[in-house]
Amino acid sequence: MSPSPNGRTVGFVWSPEFERFDYGRRHPLRVGRFQMAFDLVNEAGLLEGSVRLIDPVPLSDEMLVRIHSEEYIKQVKQISLTGQGEIDIDTPGFKGIYEYGQLSCGATLTGVREVASGRLNHFLSPTGGFHHAKYDSGGGFCIFNDVAAAVLALKDLGFERILVADFDVHHGNGTQTYFYEDPDVMIISFHEDPEWMYPHDGHIGDIGAGKGRGYNINMHFPMDSCDSVYRYAFDQLVPSLVEFYQPEFILFLPGFDAHYNDPLAHLKITTNMIRYVAQYMHDAAHTWSEGRLGVLSAGGYDATAFGWGLGTVLSVLTGLKYSPPKQTPPFDDDEETWDIVRSNVQDVKDAVFPALGIS
Ligand SMILES: [Zn+2]
Ligand SMILES: [Zn+2]
Repeated sequence: MSPSPNGRTVGFVWSPEFERFDYGRRHPLRVGRFQMAFDLVNEAGLLEGSVRLIDPVPLSDEMLVRIHSEEYIKQVKQISLTGQGEIDIDTPGFKGIYEYGQLSCGATLTGVREVASGRLNHFLSPTGGFHHAKYDSGGGFCIFNDVAAAVLALKDLGFERILVADFDVHHGNGTQTYFYEDPDVMIISFHEDPEWMYPHDGHIGDIGAGKGRGYNINMHFPMDSCDSVYRYAFDQLVPSLVEFYQPEFILFLPGFDAHYNDPLAHLKITTNMIRYVAQYMHDAAHTWSEGRLGVLSAGGYDATAFGWGLGTVLSVLTGLKYSPPKQTPPFDDDEETWDIVRSNVQDVKDAVFPALGIS
């Protein structure tokens, strides 16, 4: 390991124990996914140079009771003991699910603490991003909400403007519920149209409430949206919001499941777009947040595309070269897609910009 030019490093939070989950053989979140992705980025030479492997510390019971109700925690413990029961219809239980939840969420907090203390510039938590879990329920493959835990830990440390940039193809409905009235947290979520996509939430009009009004931004895309409309929406919305907010810490979910090869969703972006978004977030972190950037992988259910995405983001964080194979989505953006996206972007601007005082 050699330090980066500024002497600080990129942390990759990793444990072989990450593969200890078991949602069953037919579940889209396959056992082997994390190891495959690890092998891919390792073979591509992306864990060298300024990268440091970090051991995750399991989430503490004290933090767990702040992000989830006692009843829900008890339910997960019970499922964990017997292996019987389920978190929700998409999230089957297994023996040890409680400890697994603590480890995979703790991984995110471990990264957050390393970056907040200045020991690292950036971290990547490949198991992080459980954005569907709510205070009293899990679901959508999510057990405990590590994004909420990370925000609370940062607030404890005195951070006042925390940006959650959630580009996972599914809306972060759980995370939104924790901070809906809180201007210390800005959430920007780009996702597929909730009308037909899980979790059927994340409407443009849901902009936050009370003091948090305007700080919850939802932009959604119609099926088959490709790089060009996605980039248009990004350019129209994100820089204005980030420059207005000047975040002190950025938590970034890159959206590997918006890739055109992903079997669970219907957006058609490539790793070129993932690189574009990641590059912006990385530059924004260095401009506004003294480099403080945490990446939580979130979804990505095509193992190869997940690996390409992870490699792409790591290459942005480290400056190391990485080029996934050339990708050709099956469609281009057509006029209808452009019309919907232009109109959605305008609706987001009309809903949010005046509330924040952005002209
Ligand atoms: Zn997702
Ligand atoms: Zn950097």
